[in-house]
Amino acid sequence: MGVCPLARTPLLRDNFSGPLDPGARPEVLTCTSWGAPIIWDGTFDPDVAQQEAVQRNLTVGLTVFAVGRYLEKYLERFLETAEQHFMVGQRVVYYVFTERPAAVPRVPLGPGRRLRVERVARERRWQDVSMARMRALQAALGGRLGREARFVLCMDVDQHFSGAFGPEALAESVAQLHAWHYRWPQRRLPFERDARSAAALGPGEGDFYYHAAVFGGSVAALRRLRAHCARGLRRDRARGLEARWHDESHLNKFFWLHKPAKLLSPEFCWSPEIGRRAEIRRPRLLWAPKEYALLRS
Ligand code: UDP
Ligand code: MN
Repeated sequence: MGVCPLARTPLLRDNFSGPLDPGARPEVLTCTSWGAPIIWDGTFDPDVAQQEAVQRNLTVGLTVFAVGRYLEKYLERFLETAEQHFMVGQRVVYYVFTERPAAVPRVPLGPGRRLRVERVARERRWQDVSMARMRALQAALGGRLGREARFVLCMDVDQHFSGAFGPEALAESVAQLHAWHYRWPQRRLPFERDARSAAALGPGEGDFYYHAAVFGGSVAALRRLRAHCARGLRRDRARGLEARWHDESHLNKFFWLHKPAKLLSPEFCWSPEIGRRAEIRRPRLLWAPKEYALLRS
């Protein structure tokens, strides 16, 4: 496996991966057909990535929604483990979106790290909470968050960090390979296929199935992503439709039309329920077990 072309182009001029070594992981796909690197453990040098990011004096935003029971159940551990593993040594600003700002746990933060809380309305259905993230983020990216941060990662709260998640994950636009689907044949991937939906992909369309639990990029790229998804969600709603996996379906449509500059391997957002796999060396985020009966009732 040779060099990944995009890693050398202006699209990845903000490439904090250090010299990428796709050959270090011959057993997995380390480059997409459009030349974007897929970051696996061992293909980048975390120290070089770290030095480059420190030199650039970046501020990295991390947004997370914690509405309803998700706040008490997940937010504290998410933030505590982010303090241990997320962009250590960089300037970080957490954006927590919740309907109950007073209930946000006071997690001690390291130097150069701040937490901001944004109030959002509580939606009744969990699908609506998930989809409302697109609207709230649009506002934040156009406001303070957009001014403060150079790059932003947007994450689900029902997971915790278990390993270093550093600037190697940053790029103009970043998508996460879905842990359950990265080995599936393309035709079985759970894209929206109903042609009436704005999220629909035609037969044969779709590169990879991306997980909405982690995505990111520059503020400008994320504003385009958000606008696209919010528009699609509105259009579907006006027609009485809801895409198969809600905001995630629209995210997948966006990344089909606008290819991500960098992909994160499933090591970056792993589900322990899948069990051990040889290619998953060092998981960086672990999903919490799904407790939908409790959380979504
Ligand atoms: N979320 C929330 N409260 C809810 C439902 C969702 O805060 O009642 C947020 C939370 O950040 C969660 C994300 O939306 O991680 C996506 O929902 P969920 O994790 O339940 O979806 P799944 O990962 O199962 O697709
Ligand atoms: Mn989740």
